[in-house]
Amino acid sequence: MDDRSPRARRIPRWLLVFAAICAAISTGIALGVIGLGSDGSSRGSAPGASPSPPVQAADLPAGQEKHTDPRNEAIARLLERRATAVRTHDRAAYLATIDPAAKAFHDAQAAAFDNAAQIPFASWDYELVAADAFTLPEQRLATFAGATVFAAQVDLTYRIDGFDSAPVRSPQYLTFVLRDGAWLIAADTDGTDSGMRGAVQVWDLGPVAVLRGDSGIVLGVGDGTDLRSYQKDMDTAVPDVHKVWGGVWAGKAVVIVPANQEQMARLLGAEPQQYARIAAVTTGERGADVDAAAADRVIVNPDAFRELGAVERRVVMTHEITHVASRAFTRNWTPTWLSEGFADYVGYLNSGQTIRSAAPELRRDVREGRVPRTLPADEQFETTQEALPQAYEMGWLACRMIAERWGQEKLVEFYRAVGEAPPPGVGQPDQKSRLTSAFVSVLRISPADFTTQWAAYVQAQVK
Ligand SMILES: [Zn+2]
Repeated sequence: MDDRSPRARRIPRWLLVFAAICAAISTGIALGVIGLGSDGSSRGSAPGASPSPPVQAADLPAGQEKHTDPRNEAIARLLERRATAVRTHDRAAYLATIDPAAKAFHDAQAAAFDNAAQIPFASWDYELVAADAFTLPEQRLATFAGATVFAAQVDLTYRIDGFDSAPVRSPQYLTFVLRDGAWLIAADTDGTDSGMRGAVQVWDLGPVAVLRGDSGIVLGVGDGTDLRSYQKDMDTAVPDVHKVWGGVWAGKAVVIVPANQEQMARLLGAEPQQYARIAAVTTGERGADVDAAAADRVIVNPDAFRELGAVERRVVMTHEITHVASRAFTRNWTPTWLSEGFADYVGYLNSGQTIRSAAPELRRDVREGRVPRTLPADEQFETTQEALPQAYEMGWLACRMIAERWGQEKLVEFYRAVGEAPPPGVGQPDQKSRLTSAFVSVLRISPADFTTQWAAYVQAQVK
């Protein structure tokens, strides 16, 4: 579609939906989802499904580990050989860690090794996190014909050179088999039936093309023909976000472009249809420190992006990169109207979109007498909510009003005040108390007065 069509096209609200997914777990016990969404169950290893407390083999002092469990020590050596093979681009050494009897797994590993060839890794390590992390089904055990096997959670940690200042952690559930006195890896999918599904990385999906930009790096599955436009969107969005948010973030992005929506879902450990109406997702851990937040990923849905015009793509990319920039100050207690409203505020800034064109659902509600009286609750941002567009529009207008009446700098200060870490020894603050104190200290207004002003602003703006 032509961007210069006379009628301003509005950006479909569903294309901006964001899910904060905890991809960078620190303990490795189970994949958790810090959710704005309701997708926890599909990750395969939600906390409820985790096995009995795992052996933290990797946490043991090296000496103790050696004496207490020679098996773990042997596995650690195997994993180190495997990591060294990746770091030194030694394909044969990498494949030598695979059980020759596991032909399909061997071929898949060979393909993944080749797929990742263009990605500039700064580090690549494995960590044995949990011994006996899952139980092999009897039928599967039988295929090893009496050989000794071992099932474990092994976390891959890696950094992309120049872009990740903290490692990305990616759990794998591996089956090891003892062949002629040597441990080898036989599979990475045997835990699936018990909910131990390893995280999918972009190089598991196909050959990865790499395109560096001024403000980040784009990793795309396939021939890479389309990556230039994503790189341009990223290079426009990062400085735009920087202008608003300021200097306290890494100032660069890693954008992942899967070949299609089905691949996007696989990267997110979700069912194929779960992201059918989502243009892009930013993964990361809420409240991660500034360095760790540099391991965030913007994962786009190429099927949805194809439907967008140039302005719309930039709005979506800017929205997502705002989440990356503000990650360290986005906490479990940060209200979603603020995190999404702020991302929309930055996304729509200078986009030429008017409230009339960008908030039609809310406009219709108000014209029909359904005037909002309270800021939207977190639950109203769940992707299954019918009134999801209105929730986003209300959050956007709240942030827009703060910027108009108090100034953009105060909006940023307010966001940071809400997400400020509590002093050491003090527990997690609740949303209401933190909001109240930010309203009073930064904006010099009570929450009740703010809400009244906002409701009047919404009515006036959408007329
Ligand atoms: Zn968002």
